[in-house]
Amino acid sequence: MPDKVLDDLFHDTLKDIYYAERQILKALPKMARGAQSERLREAFEQHREQSETHVERLQQVFELLGKPARGKTCPAIDGIIEEGEEVLAAFKGAPALDAGLIAAAQAVEHYEIARYGTLRQWARQLGLKEAAALLEQTLEEESQTDELLTEIAESEANRDAVEPA
Ligand code: FE
Ligand code: FE
Repeated sequence: MPDKVLDDLFHDTLKDIYYAERQILKALPKMARGAQSERLREAFEQHREQSETHVERLQQVFELLGKPARGKTCPAIDGIIEEGEEVLAAFKGAPALDAGLIAAAQAVEHYEIARYGTLRQWARQLGLKEAAALLEQTLEEESQTDELLTEIAESEANRDAVEPA
């Protein structure tokens, strides 16, 4: 429609990430169960709890807009999660499993970082200060999770994935 404006884009993208977060909530326990290292398992479990808060913050943003919290199918996140499930199945019991799970999880985090970064900027542009602050908090947690995953990869998972000499 020719008269669509930033408010419409903001609302559509909010629905996209709301759907994505709820898919992620379902995927994280599978990732946690699959992880071989204790640290990685804990990281996934902890991020699952954080993700519940992400869903709640999004519900608050919908409320601030006066709109019902409703998701819209996001094929991008479905594909990213599907790839993670493929890694789980194909590398089950293998030394490279955790390195693969981290790579899959970082693809999820980067998707979220892209979405939350955009949404925060749009909220600012629209003068939605409270919404911008909520989105920023989640963005911060996604970035921290990404960094933690990098740290686990570099300190153990990548090394453990290499065939012993
Ligand atoms: Fe999230
Ligand atoms: Fe996340």
